Amino acid sequence: MGSLRSIEDLAIEGRRVFVRVDFNVPLDDGRITDDSRIRAALPTLRHALERGAHLVLASHAGRPKGERKPSLSLEPMGARLAELLDAEVLLTDDCVSEAAGKIVGDLRDGQVALLENLRFNVGEEKNDEGFARELAKLADVYVNDAFGAAHRAHASVAALPQLISERGIGLLMKAEVQSLQRLREDAPRPFVAILGGAKVSDKIGVLEALLERVDALLIGGAMANTFLAAKGLSMGKSLLEEDKLALARTLMQRADERGVDLLLPKDLVVADAIDAERGQVVEISQVPGDAMALDIGPATVDAYRDAIMPARALFWNGPMGLFEREPFSRGSIGVAQAGAECPGFTVVGGGDSVAAVNQAQLAARYDHVSTGGGASLEYLEGKELPGLSAVRSAEVG
Ligand code: ADP
Ligand code: MG
Repeated sequence: MGSLRSIEDLAIEGRRVFVRVDFNVPLDDGRITDDSRIRAALPTLRHALERGAHLVLASHAGRPKGERKPSLSLEPMGARLAELLDAEVLLTDDCVSEAAGKIVGDLRDGQVALLENLRFNVGEEKNDEGFARELAKLADVYVNDAFGAAHRAHASVAALPQLISERGIGLLMKAEVQSLQRLREDAPRPFVAILGGAKVSDKIGVLEALLERVDALLIGGAMANTFLAAKGLSMGKSLLEEDKLALARTLMQRADERGVDLLLPKDLVVADAIDAERGQVVEISQVPGDAMALDIGPATVDAYRDAIMPARALFWNGPMGLFEREPFSRGSIGVAQAGAECPGFTVVGGGDSVAAVNQAQLAARYDHVSTGGGASLEYLEGKELPGLSAVRSAEVG
């Protein structure tokens, strides 16, 4: 498989170090609403600057689909980075151009180059070899620190590192891999997983993989609606996947065979619409025909807390309800709180679940908060991420 080197093991002194970062931060009218992804890259960037590297940073933002969309420029990210790093950040007009080459070539100490949005170029998402070659002209060393993009075989993640022999992962990526590898390969028992969010179909692979490994699996969110419907309960107007009922039954049977405790909600918070001012707590057998289940109920939060506390390893992905709306946020906050209090090794991953943990100001009480949603799930599932395989080096004696 080849070995995975971290930036600490690479010869970066005085060289142009291309760092693939994940600066795909949420923007509201051009303003950054949450800069955690930029902050997450700082340890790697400081490490490189302290060792005298010339930094060339590249990221995608949003889905411009190969077009130059000013609203998706990395300009606000560059400005924020300059403040956080206390360095001059020079944004290039495009990720590959003569001007970009000149900026990178002329970098002085205390300056950092940030290439404009990779996805302004069609070659990025196509993993285009020619585009990767253009990017390679800007780099002596390649470092991937963009865990959130590691499951995508795009040019800056997959094709590019293959062209640069001095390559490895950054400190953020290293921490991600270490934490998730522990859960994947030798999680202390009992190992408890909590899965929620919108859809079963998004998470089939990880549901199947976790059933082979965990002692208990707690299900919430709209995903739970599908499981409850699969047990024959009527879920009113709730969001659920009719075409995944058979799959849900198979997963419940598999859990049974493997002795995995699969927990489903006992009660729910229902309302007649997602914009309702308040919800009503009902037993799972009492969901009115014209109502939708939008959160797990208080009895379920208590039961889930009891299952979470004894865990020696905990993984959580996907909120327990429509947590973005206050009347339906208690289930997710309750689970976030239980996870924070759990003395075991605790990991949370997934854009929305991490947002719920941040909203409750509990992130610091988890052992690891993953910056990758899809990437953390694919890694746990046992898949080799393109971003990791591409930076492995041939084994040397
Ligand atoms: P993550 O980003 O953590 O992986 P997902 O993207 O899978 O999570 O799902 C999060 C979304 O699911 C949130 O927008 C949340 O409002 C929604 N959701 C969760 N439970 C429900 C529910 N019962 N009804 C409607 N939407 C729900
Ligand atoms: Mg999400």
